[in-house]
Amino acid sequence: MPPFELLLATRNPGKRRELEKLLQPLGIRVIGLEQFPDAPVVEETGETFADNARLKAAQIARATGHWTLGEDSGLMVDALGGRPGPRSARYSGPDATDERNNAKLIEELAGIPAERRGAQYVCHIAVADPEGRIRIEVQGRCRGRIIDTPRGTHGFGYDPHFLIPEYHKTFGELAPVVKNNISHRARALQRLLPQLQRLLAERSDPPEQ
Ligand code: IMP
Repeated sequence: MPPFELLLATRNPGKRRELEKLLQPLGIRVIGLEQFPDAPVVEETGETFADNARLKAAQIARATGHWTLGEDSGLMVDALGGRPGPRSARYSGPDATDERNNAKLIEELAGIPAERRGAQYVCHIAVADPEGRIRIEVQGRCRGRIIDTPRGTHGFGYDPHFLIPEYHKTFGELAPVVKNNISHRARALQRLLPQLQRLLAERSDPPEQ
């Protein structure tokens, strides 16, 4: 039987890098959207991380005929009522960049003391079969605190401002191997693993007709 191929429905290089590293040990062949230049750009019209992860997985699976992993993630800040949430990538507007998003976040938190700067990253993953049916869904979270001054150059997005108090380091400072153990994405994938393995077992051992 050919190796199981899973298409990652993301054009975000930071996510792609992390997902690939996390999926590598499973013996799954990970493929990227660069192999499908005509695949649609999925509009993130959902209200929740779950809605958007499902949209990405289902639409890309249907367009390409591949098993597809859709991922939607973002930062929820307690003092901002959970914002930027599913709008994390576009927080500072249509021309958003990581730099602008971070500047807006720090501006919005001005005057809020350290003890009220709790936040969490959330990652929702949906896996669709080649017909676009959602077959697995999992979610992972990772709590931290937002600091004004960016620290570190690893990771992406809000990482230089996201402090993990237990380590006294931001996700920008922590080595990628450490982030990949404790992050929202790692936790979601830890939950995905047994379900994916069940699916692979069913596939290699199809029920008798
Ligand atoms: P999405 O591509 O719509 O899921 O948006 C994800 C956005 O959430 C990214 O562009 C970042 O702004 C933020 N985000 C998600 N995960 C991370 C992470 O691990 N580190 C930093 N920022 C993240």
